[in-house]
Amino acid sequence: MADHVHVRLSQGLSVSETGELIEHSRCRCGATWTKVYEADGGEPEHPTWS
Ligand SMILES: [Zn+2]
Repeated sequence: MADHVHVRLSQGLSVSETGELIEHSRCRCGATWTKVYEADGGEPEHPTWS
């Protein structure tokens, strides 16, 4: 699998306890990824921002 190029197949989305959007994906070879999107970066109201 020297030149294996991972193909990230979307496995769906979920939301963490802190409201972050988490994208799950995996390749046929068994590799998995989780990509976390910060809770809406464009959100103007962010009372807990520090
Ligand atoms: Zn792969």
